[in-house]
Amino acid sequence: MSLQATQLNELHWLMEMLHNIDVGLVVLDRDYNIQIWNGFMENHSGLLPREVKDQNLFSLFDEIPQDWFTRKAESVFLLKNKAFTIWEQRPYVFKFQNYRPITGTADYMYQNSTFIPLLSATGEVTHLCLIIYDVTDNAVHKQDLEKANEELAILSQTDGLTKLFNRTHWESCLKAEFKRWTRSQHASCLVMLDIDHFKKVNDNYGHMVGDEVIRHISSLIREHVRETDTSGRYGGEEFAILLADTSLKNAYIFAERLRKEVEAAVVQYNDIDINYTVSMGIAEIDPSINTYEAWIECADAALYNSKETGRNKISLHPQQK
Ligand code: GH3
Ligand code: MG
Ligand code: MG
Repeated sequence: MSLQATQLNELHWLMEMLHNIDVGLVVLDRDYNIQIWNGFMENHSGLLPREVKDQNLFSLFDEIPQDWFTRKAESVFLLKNKAFTIWEQRPYVFKFQNYRPITGTADYMYQNSTFIPLLSATGEVTHLCLIIYDVTDNAVHKQDLEKANEELAILSQTDGLTKLFNRTHWESCLKAEFKRWTRSQHASCLVMLDIDHFKKVNDNYGHMVGDEVIRHISSLIREHVRETDTSGRYGGEEFAILLADTSLKNAYIFAERLRKEVEAAVVQYNDIDINYTVSMGIAEIDPSINTYEAWIECADAALYNSKETGRNKISLHPQQK
């Protein structure tokens, strides 16, 4: 075979490979008219090379924002440098459907792309090659991972039985609120709540019923608080509620409403009806309280007072009566 024939053969192979390679290849002229369109582009767009030849990119694909694309491409023409886009900046250049069996959850094909300047014999950049990579697998896995991490973060902050914040996370919220108070000095109240004679519930009806009562008070707390409040399970049947931007008077109104509702409620478990009550202690943050731990102690002392003086009641921090 002559040298020329060999070279022609190799060129033919190269063309075959470029046509069949599993990335999109597009050549555009200076006016963004399509010159080359390989098999990947054909398969995913449903348009044959002869159908797109000399057609303007933006007229054929109105999903491509012309301003964004030309800004990128013009710098490639001008500076003769490559340019890149990744799916995290823009999910796709061409809106192709996603056919992948495993990552079939994605609505469309996520794409990374590279813009390459094509030099003419005179050294001018007269054309631009666009390479499109299908990165749907990576994108979907990364998104799944991020979602799992978010769920994990929520789980690590949440108490399993009540779905309220667990003690660790709740305390970190209290700490943040305490810091906020040292700057803004707005009113803020802490309510500690403990179920009365809870041991009896467990002893009389068993732990399952006890758990149901804990779930019941948790959902009542959730119903009563505002979005800006922070409620957590402080211990077994002890709860802590941080009422942001709330005066002592309003915290008392909140607590009394909750107390009355608990008193009137009946928890049903199979054919057992259970009545229960709760005691609460409230402490408003004030300059005499130096740490968030001291704030908890003040509310806890008030709660202790409620227990000592009859239960099913609310007490204020002694210095705030
Ligand atoms: P008081 O009115 O003084 O608060 O009396 P009490 O019986 O409620 O006393 P205390 O608060 O000390 O009792 C807590 C009990 O709560 C003891 C423990 O067995 C029970 N407990 C703690 N966590 C759980 C839980 O997750 N589920 C159930 N069912 N019981 C729990
Ligand atoms: Mg108790
Ligand atoms: Mg207790």
